Amino acid sequence: MVSPVVPAPEFIGLNTGEPPFVVLPRPDVLFGRRAARFRALTLAHQLEPYLNFLAILADAQQKLVGTSAAPVLVQADVDRAYEHTMPPLSTQIAAVTDIPAMLALLIADLSETPLDPGPKAALDRLAAMDSEERGALLASVAEGAFPLEQLAEAAVVSAALQVWFARAAAQLDPAVVKTVEEGICPACGSAPVASMIVGWPQAPNSRYLCCSLCNIYWNYVRVKCTACTTTQGISYRMIEGQPDDMAAEVCEGCGGYAKHLMQHKTPSIDPFADDVASYGLDVLLREEGWKRTTINPFLVG
Ligand SMILES: [Zn+2]
Ligand SMILES: [Zn+2]
Repeated sequence: MVSPVVPAPEFIGLNTGEPPFVVLPRPDVLFGRRAARFRALTLAHQLEPYLNFLAILADAQQKLVGTSAAPVLVQADVDRAYEHTMPPLSTQIAAVTDIPAMLALLIADLSETPLDPGPKAALDRLAAMDSEERGALLASVAEGAFPLEQLAEAAVVSAALQVWFARAAAQLDPAVVKTVEEGICPACGSAPVASMIVGWPQAPNSRYLCCSLCNIYWNYVRVKCTACTTTQGISYRMIEGQPDDMAAEVCEGCGGYAKHLMQHKTPSIDPFADDVASYGLDVLLREEGWKRTTINPFLVG
């Protein structure tokens, strides 16, 4: 039986006849929906405590959207980036002074939430950092570098960054966002978290990549490696007996793989949540020698 397709609110009123190149995030609902998906995936899952923590974190992100100041984009910087074929949000990072304050709000909120001992200890370590140490971690995570000895702290830092970047991305004009480099987010320059075949009414069965930082979706050729961009030697792997809404696209050209989600089969599927929940697929692929080419700040190491 095919699941009913729920129209994505992003598309209401938008009917150009062509799949749009980018779909901007909806910060007012993005993280709340993700929290619900994390919770739905916890049932009888091996990673239940971790998925539960990520649901709490996503709820805190949604709350942060309402309690922190909205990013202010400098239009001249955005325009200059487009002129030089640069991602418009990458130029904003240096100028951003409100992310440390957002991170402090997030830490304060989570400190009042009952957490398991592991996440609680990481949060305490993050809270105890001075501004210089926390700033260095922020800068590192923004560049996609996750210190192995601070993965839990980096996940919280990344959560704050996502809120800022998703809100900033939501202010872009989707009509002028263009490809900067194949396989790289055209808005912020980060790597994708996963690929998705969507059932959205304005782009049925189209393929999109979801950004691991700013959460935009951008249209991508259906059978093509997201890392080395070859269209040859691509195949798909699934775990037998698991739901058919998740596969991995593997590339013989570079030996890499990316998760491939079937949103047209499971409308509530989420690139971040379902990627973490399908960690078993990563384990199997790594045993076969494939290397992961996408980034999920909640699934590093
Ligand atoms: Zn991005
Ligand atoms: Zn490849």
